[in-house]
Amino acid sequence: MYLVKFSLLATIAALATGCVTQQGCPGVQSTDRMICAVNHDPDISLRQIESLADQAARERTALVHFFGNDIGPVTVSVRDKGNAFHKPPSTIHIPSRLIRKSHAITAHEITHLLTQGWASRVLKEGLAVYAQQRFGEQQGWPNYRHTVHAAARRWMSDNPVAIRTLGDAETALRNAQPGETARKLAAYSFAGSWVMWILDVKLNGDVTRFMSQLYRSGDYESALKQTGKSLEREWRAFIGLKT
Ligand SMILES: [Zn+2]
Repeated sequence: MYLVKFSLLATIAALATGCVTQQGCPGVQSTDRMICAVNHDPDISLRQIESLADQAARERTALVHFFGNDIGPVTVSVRDKGNAFHKPPSTIHIPSRLIRKSHAITAHEITHLLTQGWASRVLKEGLAVYAQQRFGEQQGWPNYRHTVHAAARRWMSDNPVAIRTLGDAETALRNAQPGETARKLAAYSFAGSWVMWILDVKLNGDVTRFMSQLYRSGDYESALKQTGKSLEREWRAFIGLKT
C-alpha cells in the first residue's frame, strides 16, 4: 500500500517536473531514458541500436525545445521492411536498411509526433523535412546530401513528374502510389523547401507563429497577408526558378 502510494507520488512528482522516463522498455534505452529502441532485425547489432537510441534522444531533446511541446518518451521500432513512419502518440518505425545506409530520419518522424493537428500534407511533411535538415544527425529522405532548397530547385527545374504547384504537391503527398518514388521525392522536396522558406524567411524563424497561425489552419492569406499564388511566385524566385 505504502509502496503503491510512494510509486504514485514519485510518478506525480516526475510528471510535475517534466521528467517522465520510460518504464519497462523491452529494448535498448537511450542514456537519458527518453527513447526505447526495440529491434526486430537480427542483422542489426546491439551497438547500432544503442547508437540509434542516443541519436534519437539528442534529436528529441532539440525538437522538444524547438517546438515547445513534449510527448514524453518515444519508442523507436526497427524492422527489416517498409519505409519510415510514425504512429501517434509515441512510436516511430525505422526500417533497418536506413540504419545500414546511415539515412535514419528519426528527427523527421519524431517531428510528426510533436506536431499533430496539421491542416495540409504540404505543411505536415514540409515541417518534418525542415526539422530533419535542421536537427537530424543523418542525411536522408528526400534531399539526402543536398539542402532542401537545392533538392526542390532540382526537381522543379527538371520536372518529369509534373509537380509544379502547391496543389500538385498536396495531391501527390495524398495519393502517390508505392512505385511513384520520383513523384514522392519531388513533392517532399517541394514541401520541405516551401516550409523552410515560409518559416525562416517570411516569419523570421518564429515557429510559434508558424504553428499557431498557419500549420493548423492552412490559411496563408490570414497568416501571411498574401495569396497562395503570390507566395508561390515569390518562393520560386527565392529558390532560383523562373517565376
Ligand atoms: Zn513524414
